Amino acid sequence: MWDVIIIGAGMSGFGAGLRLALAGKKVLLLEQHNSIGGLNGFYYRNGIKYDVGLHALTNFVSVGSKGHPLTKLCRQLRIPYEQLQLKEQRLTRIRFPQVDLTFSNNFEQLLSEVDEKFPQEVDNFRRLDAHILQLSDTELSGPDFVSARTQLKPFIKNSYLREMLLLPLFYYGSAHVNDLDWRQFAILYKAIYKEGFSRPLGGVRTILRLLRERFREWGGTLRVKARVAHIQCVGQEAKRVVLASGEVLEAKQILSSIGLQETRQLCGQGGVNHTQPVLTFAETISTLDASSSSQGWHDTIVFFSKTPEVHYETPLQLVDFNSGVICIPENYQEHECPQRTTLRTTHLANYHQWSQLTEEAYYAAKAKCLEASRACAFDILGSKPQGSFIAEDMFTPRTILRFTGHQQGAIYGSPQKIRDGNIGYKNLFLCGTDQGFLGIIGALLSGISMANYHCLK
Ligand SMILES: Cc1cc2nc3c(=O)[nH]c(=O)nc-3n(C[C@H](O)[C@H](O)[C@H](O)COP(=O)(O)OP(=O)(O)OC[C@H]3O[C@@H](n4cnc5c(N)ncnc54)[C@H](O)[C@@H]3O)c2cc1C
Repeated sequence: MWDVIIIGAGMSGFGAGLRLALAGKKVLLLEQHNSIGGLNGFYYRNGIKYDVGLHALTNFVSVGSKGHPLTKLCRQLRIPYEQLQLKEQRLTRIRFPQVDLTFSNNFEQLLSEVDEKFPQEVDNFRRLDAHILQLSDTELSGPDFVSARTQLKPFIKNSYLREMLLLPLFYYGSAHVNDLDWRQFAILYKAIYKEGFSRPLGGVRTILRLLRERFREWGGTLRVKARVAHIQCVGQEAKRVVLASGEVLEAKQILSSIGLQETRQLCGQGGVNHTQPVLTFAETISTLDASSSSQGWHDTIVFFSKTPEVHYETPLQLVDFNSGVICIPENYQEHECPQRTTLRTTHLANYHQWSQLTEEAYYAAKAKCLEASRACAFDILGSKPQGSFIAEDMFTPRTILRFTGHQQGAIYGSPQKIRDGNIGYKNLFLCGTDQGFLGIIGALLSGISMANYHCLK
């Protein structure tokens, strides 16, 4: 009998697993795939390593800073900060039709940009900043959803600036169409604008290696290729975990990181049926054999919208090229391959359109989208590339479904979040995406907080 079984070896599964192993619990982490990391994996193609999820590790603070999510997380998981080998971003740009705003890991940069581009709003922006800083964002209770668009209006009068501030937060963590929960706004505002972006040297693999090594050192058991097919429940109690192989496992408690509807489905509560539309992404990856500086591309990340109002919604067509995110990983400080340039371009996508394609049409659509996405990136970055492309790839909502099990490829899971992880069972709880803390740092903290709250109290 295990003390705790955790379903899913993504960031939140590891956060919970490591926390519990450190506390001396007999803990089993089950992953359906051969590889770990969930949305944050990596793979090799033509000898080049690609991160799947990681554009940026949010919440950057420098060594020794106290009371911030990143340093709390290192402390809780006993991971020395230096071992993350974090390299800071250079500059991030929010590009709209008539104006750009840039920000870095120094908040003054954004303040002075707002002052220069929207002088009549700078005091309002300071007021917003002071207000956000005093909000508690880790409360597990409270209303399900409060509209950030509505909450922002009394602070920022200029709708153009409001849209610009919302765009990066939508793309890096909103499960809601054209909006964002106000608490999620506060979390992401601090994570992105106040703290900022970094990348571990070596990419997401560096984080995953640390998590896996620590987990094993502290006595946790990880099993890959172990898909959970059912959770046998009697009344309000989860009794057994049944693997696809037919093996039956027992645990006093279960934490599931695979999503709200997906977990309910494992418990025999019907199929996945999202009551609100879910959002999904496509991402294209193109690698050039020349440095980013030779292209004149100096930003680390560019968030763009070709319209003054952001349309963060499911497009009618396969992919929406009117907004998105371009990340150039080589534009972090001290990148391991500065002689190359990788363009990772993320767009909103339509799951149903992708899911209906035959295999042949699917590959043809991918090739077409790759080309259109590249053209879009060159247009936004402002120049045609020097050098030749040595690798390219694309993932679609179908890939997200395959790698995470999130129905409809829901990138940030269900719009309905269960902040205390409680889904009606006395020993089965949620952690991860549908608990509501998103992103790499968010998912790790979600695992830790659900383990602390439900298993270690
Ligand atoms: C393109 C993209 C870019 C992103 N960029 C960033 C970024 O730059 N910075 C950032 O902080 N965040 C980023 N994210 C978000 C971040 O990746 C996620 O928020 C986070 O990884 C979610 O972790 P999780 O543990 O909640 O879920 P997941 O990563 O979905 O993990 C769930 C795990 O459960 C496993 N599983 C599912 N069903 C079963 C089953 N039945 N049995 C056993 N195992 C199962 C899955 O295989 C998976 O490994 C990005 C995501 C994407 C897709």
